[in-house]
Amino acid sequence: MEEATMEKLVSLSKRRGFLYPGSDIYGGLSGTWDYGPLGVALKNNVKNIWWRMFVEEREDMYGVDAAILMNPKAWEASGHVTGFSDPLVECKKCKRRFRADQVGEKCPECGGAFGAVRQFNMMFKTHVGAAEDEASVSYLRPETAGGIFVNFKNIIDSFHPKLPFGVGQIGKAFRNEIAPRDFLFRAREFEQMEIEYFVRPSEWDSAFELWRENVHAFNEAIGIPRALVHELEVPDNERAHYSKRTIDFEFDFPFGRKELYGLAYRTDFDLAAHSKASGVELRITDEEGKEPIMPHVIEPSFGVDRTVLALLVAAYTEDELGGEKRTYLKLNAAVAPIKAAVFPLLKNKPQLVAKAREIYAELKKTVPQIMWDDNGNIGKRYRRQDEIGTPACITVDFQTLDDGTVTVRNRDTGEQMRVSASELSSIIR
Ligand code: ATP
Repeated sequence: MEEATMEKLVSLSKRRGFLYPGSDIYGGLSGTWDYGPLGVALKNNVKNIWWRMFVEEREDMYGVDAAILMNPKAWEASGHVTGFSDPLVECKKCKRRFRADQVGEKCPECGGAFGAVRQFNMMFKTHVGAAEDEASVSYLRPETAGGIFVNFKNIIDSFHPKLPFGVGQIGKAFRNEIAPRDFLFRAREFEQMEIEYFVRPSEWDSAFELWRENVHAFNEAIGIPRALVHELEVPDNERAHYSKRTIDFEFDFPFGRKELYGLAYRTDFDLAAHSKASGVELRITDEEGKEPIMPHVIEPSFGVDRTVLALLVAAYTEDELGGEKRTYLKLNAAVAPIKAAVFPLLKNKPQLVAKAREIYAELKKTVPQIMWDDNGNIGKRYRRQDEIGTPACITVDFQTLDDGTVTVRNRDTGEQMRVSASELSSIIR
């Protein structure tokens, strides 16, 4: 039943232009996905809401967009070169490789025995410049956080913030996962939205609590149901090497309850390590006349792609409307890729089409995520819009020509109301 849900979701995503396998015509590339026109719209809506909520609407937050390629010394200092690995086992018989913590005693493919567990570093290594020697080695960042820590001093010098303050960033991260799986859930190239929130060491726990609430507030803003999100206090022996306290926010995916976001107390681990390795003082003067201090940091980390997947999973609905079965995405209007579709009732009546075009163009000025559709009959158009989660369908009919009113159909209930076309912009907004 649950596998079936994932299969249907993957298939709908491809058919309707949300997500395609990466490099599709070449048979794909494991762990990569390409966002189609509707997928990128959905994803951008998620990122824009996050950026507005956590950067633009706050006085204590700064945004950055750091380079993906970084000086390898940054990843040595942060502990990733030595410690960012997953346990790997190889089947002695078929040579297939698995994550040791995700398989049993025997190879699930051929029943063979495993060799010894070894640590596999998940960073993608590359070379910067024309020389391919050890000195030119660099890494694609495995988390966006690194780009924030190396800019700590720049932000202080440019903006002179007072504690507490934070730096937010949205961008790609790369991990050479041993076993990419479950659609967008575990990819090798993905996107993160991360915040490093710098606090006085004594105030870390109150900041941790505030960000814990902010995580739920974000979910509410984009429409991830609270009932499907569960907090997990990560035990000592399972936390990342830099963390003193971590809460995972898990989501009920069809393939199990799995991490959606993480919230970590990283102490001054990163600033201290970067300060030591770079020789640059990474401290802030908190009070005039006092010694500068090294702040501690709270890190809420949101995966963009896991958010998109959770939204699709939560939105996927099969029901019956007017005696007919239908599939629809019950997406929150704030994230829906298309906010409304405009139809002429009949496509062979030039007057209707002209009027509908006019209404469409006018609406698109204030609400750009609008779609035009005149294909097939009205019922089919409704079904198509339902399937991509469009909250409203606007139909221009003969009455529109007489009195300037149109019908607006609600995706969830199928109910229609008649409103004046001049009100559409405010209704859809
Ligand atoms: P997991 O235990 O599932 O591998 P993690 O604990 O390694 O995840 P973090 O290092 O905390 O993940 O990364 C922060 C966030 O980045 C995660 O909460 C998730 O949303 C996202 N993320 C991490 N790895 C991947 C991946 N391979 N594909 C997609 N998103 C990911």
